[in-house]
Amino acid sequence: MIHVIGYAAKEPKALLVPFSFERRDLLDYDIMIDIQYCGICHTDIHQVNNGWEGSVYPMVPGHEIVGGVSQVGSKVKQFKVGDKVGVGCFVDSCRKCDPCHQGLEQYCKSITYTYNGIEKDGKTLTQGGYSNTIIVNENYVLRMPENLNLEHTAPLLCAGITLYSPLMKWKAGPGKKVAIIGLGGLGHIGIKIAHALGAEVTVLSHSLKKQKDAKKMGADNFYATSDLKTFEKLEGYFDIMINTVASELNINQYLNLLKLDGTMVLVGIPEKDTQVNAFSLVKARRNLAGSAIGGIGETQEMLDFCSKHNIACDVELIPIQKVNEAYKRILNSDVRYRFVIDLKSLDQKQLL
Ligand code: NAP
Ligand code: ZN
Ligand code: ZN
Repeated sequence: MIHVIGYAAKEPKALLVPFSFERRDLLDYDIMIDIQYCGICHTDIHQVNNGWEGSVYPMVPGHEIVGGVSQVGSKVKQFKVGDKVGVGCFVDSCRKCDPCHQGLEQYCKSITYTYNGIEKDGKTLTQGGYSNTIIVNENYVLRMPENLNLEHTAPLLCAGITLYSPLMKWKAGPGKKVAIIGLGGLGHIGIKIAHALGAEVTVLSHSLKKQKDAKKMGADNFYATSDLKTFEKLEGYFDIMINTVASELNINQYLNLLKLDGTMVLVGIPEKDTQVNAFSLVKARRNLAGSAIGGIGETQEMLDFCSKHNIACDVELIPIQKVNEAYKRILNSDVRYRFVIDLKSLDQKQLL
């Protein structure tokens, strides 16, 4: 077994504390990654707090993982020692079902999540990237762009693909009016990708505080949702709305901003149910959809797209000792626009 150090939550809502654990030895098709950076996704907070239920502890969160390959199994073909690689939200899947065959592994019923999941041995808990090392089958590893700084690319592995996938599926591009609801980790990368695709991008944020930043990221328009006039002015305006908000909104108010046949895609996952009024959809043949991350092939396509368009994330780099503080700031919408943990800060001594 491989001895690993990291930070874990030992029970629901607990603060994260130094933790050591074991990972499996390298199998023939596995890669060992020396983790350099890991993004903090709002999902990590939902999971640590058991907000969606089903969390298992101790839990080492983190699914925006980047680093260098430090060892390869005897049959690995796609990577070599020293390559810059990434791991996103899942580390395996059944490889046999329809979604797996279609490159939509994220919808596989036997998906193995990067953390809060169970390894293929059926008993070992998976543990995420708030740690120094991870071992992953080569088919679930991504190649990171050479032209972008690694710490600025970590959040692409979840936030990036979560926005890229629905923007592609619902055909964001020239002539399309796209709204991004919520300007946090997901939202900020959504602006950059939708802008690069050629769509007109509008941000709907709590207040006007983030307006300047959004314009720099490529937003064409910016509105505060605290101002009720926003909802009058934009009625029937958008083709596509991507809702990244992590808590409940009055969704009917937002659906009303879609034009005929427009689509709202939910990617934010609040912990409580959302009430939808049928009229909000029926009166303009509107669609309400959901979308989860993306498959491995599409994630690589997104990384290559970001490389080509020089799209990197706006990050605040923190030592792991500040992770609990970062969680508090994320819950207060005080994030510009993704916290990324520098794993060099992990201290062996804390764990002795
Ligand atoms: P985040 O960085 O915290 O951003 C969320 C943003 O939503 C905030 O910055 C804020 O933006 C807005 N917001 C928060 N509370 C609000 C409220 N009460 N009312 C209105 N707006 C509010 O979170 P994230 O990492 O982007 O994740 C967002 C959500 O997506 C989470 O639920 C996460 O679990 C989920 N997620 C889903 C997938 C998927 O595959 N579907 C993947 C990753 C994450 P403003 O200040 O601009 O209003
Ligand atoms: Zn995530
Ligand atoms: Zn499958």
